[in-house]
Amino acid sequence: MQSRSSARGDFHLHSNYSDGLHSPARVVQRAAAAGLQVIALTDHDVTDGLPEAREEAARGGLRVVAGVEISGRFQGTDIHLLGLGFDPSNPDLASALLALRTSRTARGAAIVEKLRTAGAPLELQRVLDIAGHGSIGRPHVAHALVESGFAGSVDEAFSRWLSRGRPGFIPSDHIEASVAFELVHGAGGITALAHPSLYHQGLDLVRPLAAIGLDAVEAFHPDISPAARGRLLLLAEELDLLVTGGSDDHGFKGKECLGTSFLEGAPLDRLLQRLD
Ligand code: AMP
Ligand code: ZN
Ligand code: FE
Ligand code: FE
Repeated sequence: MQSRSSARGDFHLHSNYSDGLHSPARVVQRAAAAGLQVIALTDHDVTDGLPEAREEAARGGLRVVAGVEISGRFQGTDIHLLGLGFDPSNPDLASALLALRTSRTARGAAIVEKLRTAGAPLELQRVLDIAGHGSIGRPHVAHALVESGFAGSVDEAFSRWLSRGRPGFIPSDHIEASVAFELVHGAGGITALAHPSLYHQGLDLVRPLAAIGLDAVEAFHPDISPAARGRLLLLAEELDLLVTGGSDDHGFKGKECLGTSFLEGAPLDRLLQRLD
């Protein structure tokens, strides 16, 4: 294992336990090949990929921190909250995540129904097969739309059918941010606001979230510009927040980004210290 000072960490990765392509073991192998020493698997609303990731990591000397990307809501805006370093067997957190996944299954069926009415009939079973054991999300529906010829690409499936305001859009169920903070803290972990510049209000959400218990901001992410990163780092310092970072890699061909966005140096040391 490299010394911490030269270590790299990726605290935002998806596997086929949600809407990623690769198994957790494969994600770990790819992370090791990309030169990372510590990772968190942060599947949407599910932590079940962790044992497989840890088993594989034990072979390669990589460290896997418990992680999850929670569908959250704050002041009426859908946000993604990363939970890190918690006990995944904590019953309150586990049952809240299970409730989100159960409603994702119902939402998947409702989206298929909306698409049928809108002129893009899909077989629900096909969407379920694409999702596999994964927590169902719009990317699974997007792949089915592409496969059936209703969109030329996943991006087009979103822009034409699945994004907010399009005929197949249904928001995902969510947990209020304050509740998500309580749940993750109760399980011994910390929370980070994922990709802060992707929300409508952008970075303006950080301050009020910090006031109700947010622990960290994700400042290193492929969708965060250097200018936004600079502002986030200043905000983190001012508000005494930790900084996280990762690639948000889902593993799909042409979109692979593992190894391009990571945390290193002092912010990584501080995060690991807090997680220890
Ligand atoms: P869901 O949680 O089911 O609403 O799906 C959200 C996920 O869909 C995000 O985490 C991204 O992985 C993916 N996604 C959202 N918007 C797009 C887009 N325009 N193109 C491709 N993938 C997207
Ligand atoms: Zn995703
Ligand atoms: Fe996200
Ligand atoms: Fe993500």
